[in-house]
Amino acid sequence: MKFEFPSVQKPEDVAIADWNNWTWQLRHALKNQKDFETVFQLTEAERIAFEGGKELFNIRTTPYYAALAGRDATQSIRQILMPHQKELSEGSQQMLDPLGERVNNPSPRIIHRYSDRVLFLVTDICSVYCRFCTRKHFTGQEQAFIKADEYTQALQYIRSHPGIREVILSGGDPLTLGDSHLERVLADLRSIEHIEIIRIGSRMPVVCPMRVTEDLVKILRKHKPVYLMSHFNHPGELTAEAVTAIEKFVDSGIPVMNQMVLLNGINNHPALIQALNRRLVYLRVKPYYMFQCDPSLGTDHLRTSVEDSLEIQKELWGHLSGLAMPNLSLDIPSGGGKTYLVPNFQVSQDGPVRRYVGWDGVEAEYVSPPAESIRKPEAYPYDLEWEQLKKGKQT
Ligand code: SF4
Repeated sequence: MKFEFPSVQKPEDVAIADWNNWTWQLRHALKNQKDFETVFQLTEAERIAFEGGKELFNIRTTPYYAALAGRDATQSIRQILMPHQKELSEGSQQMLDPLGERVNNPSPRIIHRYSDRVLFLVTDICSVYCRFCTRKHFTGQEQAFIKADEYTQALQYIRSHPGIREVILSGGDPLTLGDSHLERVLADLRSIEHIEIIRIGSRMPVVCPMRVTEDLVKILRKHKPVYLMSHFNHPGELTAEAVTAIEKFVDSGIPVMNQMVLLNGINNHPALIQALNRRLVYLRVKPYYMFQCDPSLGTDHLRTSVEDSLEIQKELWGHLSGLAMPNLSLDIPSGGGKTYLVPNFQVSQDGPVRRYVGWDGVEAEYVSPPAESIRKPEAYPYDLEWEQLKKGKQT
């Protein structure tokens, strides 16, 4: 079975070699009203947003993503990249730093919220500034690659905390960095013995899939295990170009996991989420998280309610296999960390007897064995064994 994913048409006056070159896409990004008017006919609310100016989060898109949004009849993708007058209004909850990241940063570019992993903000630049962005307090200040002293401090922090096993490269978008910068970061992290996993969070496969070159894939492979965390939010973003990018990763053994955000009027419909996740699984991408949108500045109109998200998730349970099922999750504002949102399937409980109702209305009881019969396996120092295995020693 082979599906044909639609390709994005380039403008006639752009050479194909330029269009397919990611640095050309970044150099020719649309950044202001005049640029946007070359692709879109702006509405009054969009024009006010551009003219309203300074309070707005940065504005930028690649020509590729603009062309994709321009041909999208539902206007969903347009709302992800296009500023709107509503960004300027007072919202019900507007936080500059909804995840409390500025409190949990022991070093300027490190966010350490969970004991075994850190976020490492290697750049503040993105090729598209998504209107729903959580990290508006940081992204888009155009500092590009992290400054030398902050880079040294960040590495030193990671090196001096042996409990850190995982580093998540983020920003900004780490794949806006050139290959040599990226290679250096990965090599430096790999030189730290306790780092097991490196993740790269990037919207580039969505908004600039030409960034995924053979050279890039070779670099990631060289420093394995590296996981690529993609951010597809809408099935319309899965174009022939994006599929080629994904296949380069997965064919090279680089796992791809997708994190999406539920967005009001853009993707908050179970049929649409099903369509996205079925396609992703077909492409060997695991739908990982489906986030409740964070209450960052100017995003009230893009956020849906927790009730709406739970309804969507409940509907998905009945129709998607576990492989295609993302975890619905909410980041507790002010740095409380993630919490899963799970539809309630339990109807009642009487001691060990719990009554559940399935997605299609079937009701039944589950009776737990008595508490005194619960045993734990014998203690074994698995952690110690793992440390020795990593060093190539047999136990
Ligand atoms: S790519 Fe990520 S960090 Fe950049 S603007 Fe979009 S959501 Fe924010």
